[in-house]
Order: sequence, then C-alpha cells, then structure tokens
Amino acid sequence: MTRPALRDRACPLCGSHDARAEVASAPRAEACSLRDLHAYWYGIDRERRFFTYHRCTGCGQLYNRAFFDAAQLASLYSAMLPNMAAVPESAVRATQRGYYDDVAASVVAGGAYLEIGPDVGHLVREAARRGRFRHFWLFEPNRAVHPALKRAAGAVPTTIADGMTDLSAVPDRSVSLAAMVHVLDHLLDPAAMLRAVRVKLRQGGVLMIVTHNEGSAMRRLLGRRWPVFCLQHPQLYNPRTIRRQLERSGFGAIEVRRSRNVFPVDFLARQALQAAGWPGARVSLPRWPVGLRLGNMLTLASAD
Ligand SMILES: [Zn+2]
Repeated sequence: MTRPALRDRACPLCGSHDARAEVASAPRAEACSLRDLHAYWYGIDRERRFFTYHRCTGCGQLYNRAFFDAAQLASLYSAMLPNMAAVPESAVRATQRGYYDDVAASVVAGGAYLEIGPDVGHLVREAARRGRFRHFWLFEPNRAVHPALKRAAGAVPTTIADGMTDLSAVPDRSVSLAAMVHVLDHLLDPAAMLRAVRVKLRQGGVLMIVTHNEGSAMRRLLGRRWPVFCLQHPQLYNPRTIRRQLERSGFGAIEVRRSRNVFPVDFLARQALQAAGWPGARVSLPRWPVGLRLGNMLTLASAD
C-alpha cells in the first residue's frame, strides 16, 4: 500500500521539528493510503480528511508534518479539476479585480509583471489594462489555460512557462509587480520560492500575496470544519507568520490586510450549510454578488 511519503517534515518557516498537534480529521490523512486520499484531494466531499496540522513551538507556524512528496503532488495536481470551479467566473473576476485595486497605488510603472500560478489570468488582464508593464512572465503548470493567459496579456510581450520553480529566465531586479494568489500555502518549500521571487524585484518593486488566514474569525467559528483545512495546504499562515516568513526571506516593508472575496449569495448559503453538516439541503436564493472579508489576507512586501 502506497502512503503519503513525507513523514517528519520540518517547519517550513524556521526548520524546527518541535511542534504539537492542533487540528486533525477523523481518520487522519497520515493513516490513509494514497489511493484512499485521492477522493478527498478535490476537497468538495462531505466528509473531511486532511493531514494533522501542527503548531511549531518555536515560531508559531501551522503546518503538516506528514504530507505528499513532490512526485506524489505532481501526480495529484495533474489530475486536478479547474480551480474554484464551484464559484461562478464573474465572482472570481470581481475578486481578482479587487486584488489589483489593493496593489495598484504601490506599483511603479515601467518594470515587468511576474505571476506564479496565474490560472486563466484574471489578474493578468487587470495588469494589462491598468499597469504599464514592459513584459509579462507567467509561470503556470496547467498547460490547458496557456491560450487564455496569452489572450489576457493582450499586446504586452509575454513569456509563459509551465514550471513554477525555475525563474532563471526572468532578469534579476526587473520586476515591478510580482503576484501569488493562493499559491504560497500550496508549496512544500515556500521560503525557496520567496527568495527566488525577491531577487527578481527591482527597486520599489512589490510582491503581492493572497493566502488564507488561519487566525481569522471564520476559522475560529468553523473550527476543524473550516474548509481550508484540506489536503492541498501543507501550511497555513496568519498575519504574524506570513510576516516572519517574508522577513526571513529577506523582504523589507511588509503590510498585511484582510482581503475581500466576492461570492454570489446562493454559493455562500450552500457553503454555510455544508460547513454546518447539511450538505444536501436545497437552497433557492438569488445569485447577487456580495463582497466579504472572510478569512483571506492580502500581503504586500517590498524587496528592500
Ligand atoms: Zn517554526
């Protein structure tokens, strides 16, 4: 029986192995076979299953000690359904437009734009429309969305790569805006990625990161039913730990805000019912979009 391969993962922030268990599913994912976990990978099942989240006693980072290794992850992601398929396209677009609103004032004109995991390119489209970037560097493993990305970039010279770790093609100190939207909490080695991005930022350049916030009211309210506890997040941040992670990776000024997500009312109601344990309940509600600050955070960091 094949098992998830990582067993004693070090804290991704400080490297310590000293941590205590904080949130677990029943049964725990570390007790399951790879084959059993496949069904839970998509995270939309009624039943929850995830690797036990531990709190590092040294630095306070929340993370999984047992997890898939890089090869197992690559195979799981290759079988992945399109991201956030349950949320209507218009709501995703509105949410990402809001992220750009948050960062627009901090962007110096004339540099390049770099995004890790841009998906179909909602943020890229905003950047093409509103920023004055000289080049787009887009690192997106899902080849199926590359044509959509090219369209989103419009007339701006664009390089699209299907790896996420090798940024060597991007000239050092050339990027005025780098973006990672719901990427950092998926990575096995977030510190390595942050260091790689930092050397690409020019003077005055900004890195924008959107992640979940495990210190949010939503997480406290839902406890272990918080849907963000899932097989895809080997670590989860709060404002304090993401700040430390960025400081350790050499970033200078760091600002953490709560970010706004746009959802249709009926989607929110279904999610709430599912979290409360009534996933089958039928709801008939309008699809009006609402903007909520619901347990995500947006972090801005400068290179120096
Ligand atoms: Zn630690």
